[in-house]
Amino acid sequence: MARVSGYPMERLYAQARRYLPGGVNSPVRAFRAVGGTPRFLERGEGAAVWDAEGRRYVDYVGSWGPLILGHAHPEVVEAVRDQARRGTSFGAPTVLETELAHRVCERIPSCEKVRFVSSGTEATMSALRLARAVTGRELIVKAEGCYHGHADGLLVKAGSGVMTLAIPGSPGVPEAVAARTRVVPYNDAAALEELFDREGREIACFIVEPIAGNMGVVPPVEGYLETARALTRRHGALLVFDEVITGFRVHPGGAQALYGVQPDLTCLGKVLGGGLPVGAFGGPAEIMDRLAPDGPVYQAGTLSGNPLAMRAGIATLDVLAREGVYDKLERSARRLAEGLQERFARAGVPAVLQRVGSMWTAFFSEAPVTDYASAARCDVRRFAQFFHAMLEQGVYLPPSQFEAAFVSTAHGEEEIAATLAAAERALAALA
Ligand code: PLP
Repeated sequence: MARVSGYPMERLYAQARRYLPGGVNSPVRAFRAVGGTPRFLERGEGAAVWDAEGRRYVDYVGSWGPLILGHAHPEVVEAVRDQARRGTSFGAPTVLETELAHRVCERIPSCEKVRFVSSGTEATMSALRLARAVTGRELIVKAEGCYHGHADGLLVKAGSGVMTLAIPGSPGVPEAVAARTRVVPYNDAAALEELFDREGREIACFIVEPIAGNMGVVPPVEGYLETARALTRRHGALLVFDEVITGFRVHPGGAQALYGVQPDLTCLGKVLGGGLPVGAFGGPAEIMDRLAPDGPVYQAGTLSGNPLAMRAGIATLDVLAREGVYDKLERSARRLAEGLQERFARAGVPAVLQRVGSMWTAFFSEAPVTDYASAARCDVRRFAQFFHAMLEQGVYLPPSQFEAAFVSTAHGEEEIAATLAAAERALAALA
């Protein structure tokens, strides 16, 4: 088991399946939606990753969002290396937590205080508990196709792997828990209003991805987030933005800064940890102070605020704070998206490129995707063919139609040009 380089992927996958359910620790990694054998990755640098057979790929997964600076960014690596020498976990307060919290609260408009956790799942789960405690209500509302991690009650009609594997929810989630979740179509303000009119007095919160990323990238239609804000306020419920993907990704202040709509609670993760396990949820002090130890709402974590993760997060946010970083991301992502759209058109393959900043999806669809129903109409067979043709050409895309792809600051002219050339060949092979 020690040496893996040079081993064929099938063998590695068989070994993995012997000890790990499905051979993976997160279902979408298993390539089930596209078929074939997942690539076992050994190394990443900048915009590239190398598999265990030594093949290089331009990477648009970016660890599913965290790696906005690319793989092994020297400043992140140095911060983690330095911290490892000083100690990897104390279970006591560190100044690092205050330093990262300060950066978060400076940038994310709605956050006066944050609590760090170790994953996005923990962030949303804890935010919901807080919302229920603050409002004294039990119902939560989510939008179809949005994914908020795998906590009970949030898997109902979720996106990401739940959508990819076409499962409606999950066995093991008690009916009584699922029954406390209401689901509305994404981008449908009228449906949300109807629900609030009917059950508004029992609703603790509406949790939503302000830009959906987990059915592929679906931006909010004009006025949707504003309506959500007005309705929750009118009915005494909280608005929770799940910015686990969008936080620090689409704008320094997240989607809430981009669209100018402030939620009551914000969930963060991914970019915040610069590739180490981190999540966070934050909001006004008045709400956040309801958490233990100041308040009665219990929430805790052995590795929460972990020093390695804090250092990686601080280093990442400091690089992102430099002038021109988001402009560069925008330029690279625009060039890629426009280039791809052009090549799809030239090849006569119906596809719609949807993008906000450096997050994007190529939907194999005739029409723009605005919600779960239109995402579900995409040609997933075509997507799978394209995915494999791109992989053959050395481009690593998310292995599902219903996921966001990511451009990092490490994706330069060269990588984008190589990707467009690869797409041209892949599309020719598809025809
Ligand atoms: N929320 C959103 C929007 C996500 O995209 C994800 C993960 O993809 C999560 C929450 C859950 O985060 P984690 O996988 O870190 O638990």
